Amino acid sequence: MPALSGSYHTGGIFELVTGNPAFQCDVGVLLPLLGSLDIFIFSLIAGLLIYWFLFRKKTEPVLDFKTFPAVSPPIPETSFIEKMKKTNRNVVVFYGSQTGTAEEFANRLVKDAHRYGMKGMAADPEEYDMSELSRLKEIPNSMAVFCMATYGEGDPTDNAQEFYDWMQGTDDDLEGVNFAVFGLGNKTYEHFNATGKYTDKRLAELGGKRVFDLGLGDDDSNLEEDFISWKEQFWPAVCEFFGVEATGEDSSIRQFELVVHNDINMNQVYTGEMGRLKSFQTQKPPFDSKNPFLAPVSVNRKLNKGGNRHLMHIELDIMDSKIRYDAGDHVAVYPINDAVVVNRIGERLGVDLDTAISLRNLDEESNKKHPFPCPTTYRTALSHYLDINNKPRKNVLYDLAQYASDPQEQENMRKMASASPEGKALYQSWVLDSERNILAILEDLPSLNPPIDHLCELLPRLQARYYSIASSSKVHPNSIHICAVVIEYTTETGRVYKGVATNWLKNKEVTENGHKHTVPMYVRRSQFRLPFKPSNPVIMIGPGTGIAPFMGFIQERAWQKEQGKDVGETILYFGCRHKNEDFLYQQELEEFERAGVLTQLNVAFSRDQEHKIYVQHLLKKNKEQLWKLIHSNNAHIYVCGDARNMARDVHTAFYEIAEEVGGLTHTQAVDYFKKLMTKGRYSQDVWS
Ligand code: NAP
Repeated sequence: MPALSGSYHTGGIFELVTGNPAFQCDVGVLLPLLGSLDIFIFSLIAGLLIYWFLFRKKTEPVLDFKTFPAVSPPIPETSFIEKMKKTNRNVVVFYGSQTGTAEEFANRLVKDAHRYGMKGMAADPEEYDMSELSRLKEIPNSMAVFCMATYGEGDPTDNAQEFYDWMQGTDDDLEGVNFAVFGLGNKTYEHFNATGKYTDKRLAELGGKRVFDLGLGDDDSNLEEDFISWKEQFWPAVCEFFGVEATGEDSSIRQFELVVHNDINMNQVYTGEMGRLKSFQTQKPPFDSKNPFLAPVSVNRKLNKGGNRHLMHIELDIMDSKIRYDAGDHVAVYPINDAVVVNRIGERLGVDLDTAISLRNLDEESNKKHPFPCPTTYRTALSHYLDINNKPRKNVLYDLAQYASDPQEQENMRKMASASPEGKALYQSWVLDSERNILAILEDLPSLNPPIDHLCELLPRLQARYYSIASSSKVHPNSIHICAVVIEYTTETGRVYKGVATNWLKNKEVTENGHKHTVPMYVRRSQFRLPFKPSNPVIMIGPGTGIAPFMGFIQERAWQKEQGKDVGETILYFGCRHKNEDFLYQQELEEFERAGVLTQLNVAFSRDQEHKIYVQHLLKKNKEQLWKLIHSNNAHIYVCGDARNMARDVHTAFYEIAEEVGGLTHTQAVDYFKKLMTKGRYSQDVWS
C-alpha cells in the first residue's frame, strides 16, 4: 500500500499516515466486525469525504470582484510621496535626530511652511523609503528640507544611518528635486557638521536643486540663533524660488489637541514608561531606549574627599536583565525631574496635575500620534517626558507670548523670539545667561497664563543621559559602574542651576533597611574599545570624571593578565584639582600600579601649586617614551573628558611630540594623527 500523506484511493481503503505503522488502519479488515447500519453510515461518511475531496474546488464560488465595493489600495506606510500626495503637502522636512533637537527644528519648519502658504510634514527618514526622493518632482512646487545632526565622530544619527548609506550607494537622478539642508553640529568636535555637509553635497551631486545654502548650526556657541538666522533668510529665498508670498499669518499653530479622560481606568495610563504600557511592572528583555531596564542602585558613594563638589561612584545592578556590555560602552539613564519644580508649575498654572489626558495629533496622517506616551497625567508628563529644567528655545517664547495679558510682557517675549539684535541680546541675558527655565519664566512674568496642554506640546522631550561605563563586564558581569560629578552652580545673576540627572542620581542611596532605588537604563554601544591584541600598549588620558571608561579598561587589562595573556604597557594620565581632594579612585589606581597592571600612573594636580599642571604637560615631559610607544610599538591612544579645551590641548601636545621627537613638520604631524584616528589607534570619548 502506498503511504501517501492524506491520500485516498477509490478502492474504499482510507489510509491515515502518521509515519507510525501502528496507526495505519485498513478499513477492509474491520468490515466483518460491523453491522449493516454501521456499514451504511460508514459508507455515507466515506462517500461524503470522497465527494468533498474531489469536487469541493468546483463548488467554490467564483469571486466576482465587481460585486465588492471598490477600495483604493492602502498607501504603503513607507511612502512619503503617496502620503504627501494624499494629504496635499508639498514640503517634507526630514530629520536626523539623536537628542530630539533636529526633530524639533523640523517641526518648526513645518509650522513656518504654513505661514508661507505651503503645507508640510516632518518625517523620520528611518520610517520612509528614501529611495523615493527622486519622485518628489511628481509633486508641483515641492521641496525636501533636511535637518541633520552630526553625532559622535562625525557620524549620522542612528535614525539617519540608513538614509546616509543610501546616499552613499545610490546613483538615482535627483534632477527636479528641490532641497535645502540645515546641519546641527558642535565646533568642539573634529568633524563639525559632517553629516549636514555631506547631505548637502551629495544631494547636489545627484542632480538635486539647492533652494538655499547649507545652514551650519553650532551647539558650542548658539544653535538656536544659528537656526533662526538661517530660516530668516531661508524662507524669503523659498518664496522667491517658488514665486509665492508670505501670507503674513503670524499666529501660533497647534499640532496637538487636548483630550481629558474623566473616567479612564488608571491601568491604561502611562506612568513614565517609554514604550510599552506597564513595562516597568513586567520587565521583559531585550532592554533598549524604548524598553529600559529598572536597575537597582546597589552602590552610591562619594568619591572626593574634600571641596564643595560632589563626585560619585554609582553601581547599577543588571543581574538577570540579560544586558551585556563592553568596557568603553555608554550607559543611558532616564532621569526624573525635580518634584518640587513640577509641583510649582502646577500651582503657578492652577491645574490639577493628576488629571489624565492625551495630546492627540491634529494631523491624522502623521506617524507621530502623541508628543509623548499618552494617555498620561500632567504630573507624569512634566516629571518623566518633558524637559522643564533647561532654558526654553525661542519658539516656545514666541508661541507662549499670546497668553501674556500684560502688553509689555507680551512684547518682550516676542522681541526675545525675534532675530533682531535687540531681541537677541535680551534673550541672551534674560534667558540664557540667567538660566531661566520655564518655571522661572512663569514666575517672573505674572501675566503669562498659558494652558498647560499647550505648554506640554511646546516643551522638548526629556532626554536620556549618557555616561561612560566605568567597569569591565569581564570583572563585573552583573553591574555597570558610573563615575559622575553632580552639576550645580550659581549664575552671575544669582540663580542656582541644578543638573536634572546627576542631582536625581545623587539621592539614590541604599537605605538603612537595604532598600534600593531603581533607575531606568539601557546600554548604548560605542567604538571606544581596547586594542584587539592585549599586547599592544595603551596610553589613556582622562582628567576628572574622564577617568570613567579607563576604570573599565584597567580592570579588563588586569583580567587579561590573570588569564595569562601577554598584556602590553598600560599607561594612565589622570588630572585633578588637589591630591587630597579629588584624586578619584586613588586607592584602586595605586593598587593596580602595585600589581603591575598599570605600568605608569601619571597624575597632574592642577591646583596644588601656583602654576597649573595639566595632563598635557606631563605628556610633554615623557615625550620620548610616548613617541617610541606610538611610532614603534603600535600603541593605542585614548582621550576622555572635556571636549572644549582638554581634548584639543592634548591633541596639540601630541602634534608637538611628533614634531619635536619624530622630526615631522606640523602638517605631517596633523596627517600622522589623522591616520592614527582612521586606523582606530587614536580614540576619543569626549563631552562638551
Ligand atoms: P574637573 O574636575 O573640573 O577637571 C579635571 C582636571 O582637568 C582639573 O585638574 C582641571 O584643572 C583640569 N583641566 C582644566 N582645563 C584643562 C585643560 N584645558 N587641559 C587639561 N586639563 C584641564 O573635571 P570634571 O568636573 O570631572 O569634568 C571633566 C569632563 O569630563 C567634563 O566635561 C565631563 O562632562 C566629562 N566626562 C564625564 C563623563 C562621565 O561619565 N561623567 C565621562 C567622560 C567625560 P583646573 O580646574 O584646576 O583648571
